[in-house]
Amino acid sequence: MYSHIMTIDRATTALIIGGGVAGPVAAAALARVGAEPIVHEAHAGPADQLGAFLTVAPNGLAALRAVGMVERVRAAASFATTRTEFVNGNGRRLGLLGDESQLAPELRSVTITRAALQRVVTDAAIEQGVSFEYTKRLRSYTDDGDQVTATFTDDTSAAGDLLLGADGIHSAVRQTLSPDAPQPTYTGLLGIGGFVPAVDIPATPHETVRMVFGARAFFGYQCEPDGRTFWFANLGNSERSVEEIAAQGDETWRAHAFELFDGDLVELTRIMEAADLGQFRPKGTYDLLSLPRWHRGRAGLLGDAAHAVSPSSGQGASLAFEDALELARQVRVHGGAPAALAAYERARRDRVERIAAVGRRRGAQKAGSAHPIALAIRDTSMRMAFAMIRRFGSQRWITDYRTDLADAHQEIS
Ligand SMILES: Cc1cc2nc3c(=O)[nH]c(=O)nc-3n(C[C@H](O)[C@H](O)[C@H](O)COP(=O)(O)OP(=O)(O)OC[C@H]3O[C@@H](n4cnc5c(N)ncnc54)[C@H](O)[C@@H]3O)c2cc1C
Repeated sequence: MYSHIMTIDRATTALIIGGGVAGPVAAAALARVGAEPIVHEAHAGPADQLGAFLTVAPNGLAALRAVGMVERVRAAASFATTRTEFVNGNGRRLGLLGDESQLAPELRSVTITRAALQRVVTDAAIEQGVSFEYTKRLRSYTDDGDQVTATFTDDTSAAGDLLLGADGIHSAVRQTLSPDAPQPTYTGLLGIGGFVPAVDIPATPHETVRMVFGARAFFGYQCEPDGRTFWFANLGNSERSVEEIAAQGDETWRAHAFELFDGDLVELTRIMEAADLGQFRPKGTYDLLSLPRWHRGRAGLLGDAAHAVSPSSGQGASLAFEDALELARQVRVHGGAPAALAAYERARRDRVERIAAVGRRRGAQKAGSAHPIALAIRDTSMRMAFAMIRRFGSQRWITDYRTDLADAHQEIS
């Protein structure tokens, strides 16, 4: 089957820029196909802020399984999130979607803080022999055709066969690789949220996150068995810089959030009453639907650097893990030649661009409306859409995707 695999007389050295979540998984996958990856991360170590959390979907967990990380990620996860219930601001159900029951147990979705995810995949990659260099912020790189050389802001440099930008949505690698690439697009939504201690509200059903399409904004929450609750909200707003957001003051943002959910389910207010002030300081959310190129010569992009999907898709990390596996598969076939990056981009582009478009459409429904008739139309059309998704499994092409290091991807569980 692999008669076309190149015979590699020395290991491919891969400089991975970014030790977030895509970088360590790509490094572990590359090590498994015989390459020598070194991760260069701008910060002094894995992030330790506990604020942001994300859901890893079955397709992402399948990629983690292929690099021997799935059990550790599950163990570090805060809780399982195998169902999503959608309701309107009055609590009326619009739809219920769930992981398919025939899924292998280790592939059922989990919610984990981004910090825990980063720490676990980093530890696992180190145990698998990957080297990490910290406090190495890429300034730029050069590619002379035979090798690629990264230069860091501390004036050190490193050379290798391939340079892989896993440096996130504001990627420095992308700036050198494709200076004319479009910038990330503001989704129109600010995000707030965090964890709160036990709150006196009815618990969400077992392993279920509740998504509330409120009258004026969007709210999600899930109660853990011990009562701790994680929550987030998306507020429609014009784009603001970090400085502008800070200048407005956290008290003002808090009052704004209470105002937006006034009249919606009382649980939302109860949760926010239990939240620290800092949880109300919003962050802008962005996506990047399509880049003209993901690779040039010996440099390529993966994860958010290549395709930032809106947080509304719940797929950013999972797609980054799929990227990591596909990259390693192509390095296994083509060695450290630019052809590996071209084949990787061909294999990935269509799928991630389709999912990015889904994420943008989902986000557009979150801002609510001042008009009750518009809200009624929204609720009816959403109820129909969720019923169709449930009946025909029309989102399964997203979560049923499986890849591993040996075979071509398959649509199975
Ligand atoms: C509010 C929110 C909710 C989300 N929810 C979900 C969800 O439920 N499910 C999901 O799958 N995804 C979710 N996502 C998306 C997910 O967080 C990203 O898709 C994922 O983190 C991308 O991983 P990455 O490794 O490509 O980039 P990042 O996680 O951003 O990591 C990039 C790394 O590169 C480093 N770096 C940056 N610049 C340089 C440089 N010049 N030199 C060296 N290192 C550098 C950074 O320090 C960082 O460690 C969400 C995102 C947000 C904002």
